[in-house]
Amino acid sequence: MTDPKQLNAQQLVSYLAENAGHWIESQRAQHRVHADPLPDTTVAALSGFFGQRTLDRTRIRHVASIENPAFYKEFEEAGEAFPLDFTVWAAITFGDVILVNGAQVPGPPSHSVVFHEMVHVVQYDVLGVHEFARRYVTPFVQSRFNYMAVPLETDAFDLQGRFEEWSGEPFSAEEEIRSLVGEPGLPYSGSR
Ligand SMILES: [Zn+2]
Repeated sequence: MTDPKQLNAQQLVSYLAENAGHWIESQRAQHRVHADPLPDTTVAALSGFFGQRTLDRTRIRHVASIENPAFYKEFEEAGEAFPLDFTVWAAITFGDVILVNGAQVPGPPSHSVVFHEMVHVVQYDVLGVHEFARRYVTPFVQSRFNYMAVPLETDAFDLQGRFEEWSGEPFSAEEEIRSLVGEPGLPYSGSR
């Protein structure tokens, strides 16, 4: 058993990134077989913002609730708060599988919510699951658990905000995400 209290920041980054990566992979595998392609209305609303290949391969599933990962037990046992409580999130994305949290979103999710998660689908595509986890966890721990300090998240919120205000021809969110994630020397690059 790992006691999170005994870890320094760098050890906590490694511990969380490794566990998160495995959790994302297993959640993706578990839910993908039960998930559906995006509904036609969603594809129509997001077309142009995302490429056809991305819209085609994404899967979505409504679940009654989103559960926190099993490794959170170690935080609980150490008397620590959970790093991120996923049970209150509207949705979460594991690779190319979007889970919509029925406890927060009883009906069909808005296009805006799905748009936000699609940003993560593209980020995962560029980075792979384990690098995505590392680039999420590193700034998250460094900012003392503020997920609004995570560039993967702030980019998603920025683009989502633009999408909500947008009228007229779509802008290619997908191209922007791919160039943002690839930019060297920014917090994205993390520490190697
Ligand atoms: Zn997000």
